[in-house]
Amino acid sequence: MSVEIAGLTRRFGAGRPALHGVELLVRGGEFVALLGPSGSGKTTLLRVLAGLDVPDAGQVRIDGRDVAGVPARARGIGFVFQSYALFRHMTVFENVAFGLRVRPRGARPREAEIAARVRRLLELVQVPELERRYPEQISGGQRQRVALARALAIEPRLLLLDEPFGALDAQVRKDLRIWLRGLHDRLGITTLFVTHDQDEAMAVADRIAILREGRVAQFDEPAALFDRPADAFVAGFLGEANRLPCRVAGGLAHFAPLPLAPVPAAVADGPALAFVRPAALVATPGGEGVVRGARHDGRVLHLSVQLGDTLLEATPAPGWEGPRRDDRCGLRIASALVFPADAAD
Ligand code: ADP
Ligand code: MG
Repeated sequence: MSVEIAGLTRRFGAGRPALHGVELLVRGGEFVALLGPSGSGKTTLLRVLAGLDVPDAGQVRIDGRDVAGVPARARGIGFVFQSYALFRHMTVFENVAFGLRVRPRGARPREAEIAARVRRLLELVQVPELERRYPEQISGGQRQRVALARALAIEPRLLLLDEPFGALDAQVRKDLRIWLRGLHDRLGITTLFVTHDQDEAMAVADRIAILREGRVAQFDEPAALFDRPADAFVAGFLGEANRLPCRVAGGLAHFAPLPLAPVPAAVADGPALAFVRPAALVATPGGEGVVRGARHDGRVLHLSVQLGDTLLEATPAPGWEGPRRDDRCGLRIASALVFPADAAD
């Protein structure tokens, strides 16, 4: 199921709209993550797609069909919202059966068919043994699996997930996201997954839409967002980066008074801001910098280097064995992402 979103705007009273001309084209079968700071419009976007909220302007087409005026129940969309908890007074079985039982009489499966389908879904989410339990008798991770089974009961071809693993601890989240991605692939559905956790988005999504203040700042594959951010916001938002004020002249960014060699920059002359990933800031023995900290993450050695008044995150050059605190070093920028300062923030 493809999803085409064009010029989507939603205002709540005066002030900045929650959605401000959102454009997004999701392919059928794609797993897309919506990533952005709190308040950037992620939940509002999912609610509009689900038909739980009405936009002020713009269009949503699902499989080519404009869904304006189509009620939520008729959209064939499954959703799991963080706040959309399971019904406490219903067993796991009844929770999953719910979406089928509330169907209009003509479309409602018979009781035996409902039971068979619920059991298949509980197998699918790998908690078949829980059907008689109540939500408070199962773990948080199990509840999220059951919530997903409930969303899948109506056999949606589009799944909307709003921070479904938000309340769970890190290891359970990791297990569930891998499992979710496998489930998505097996079912051949289209998934939109809201998260504010960039590692989670990078780990599961085919493409990530970065939302900022109600707009899509960039929509691309994870590696492209990281390597070719469209603007300073995306560059600073995703991954770690040293932010270095600079001045561009004749296609080169200069970092004076810091003792760093100029780097190529394809922006107009004037004040600018360079983002340099720690891996692209190479430290070599001897020079004007001082190693203030060295930290091994199991694979790579990370250095904190003081250069003038600035503390920078850097990586030792290949062959520099065991740099230590208080060692002197020089820094070289291997690559930088440079944006004009007025557009940067
Ligand atoms: P996110 O999910 O990215 O954190 P939301 O979509 O929840 O962001 O909110 C986007 C903006 O819209 C926020 O400024 C929020 O306060 C506002 N907003 C969301 N829902 C409502 C509402 N029902 N009434 C008023 N303002 C709202
Ligand atoms: Mg939200």
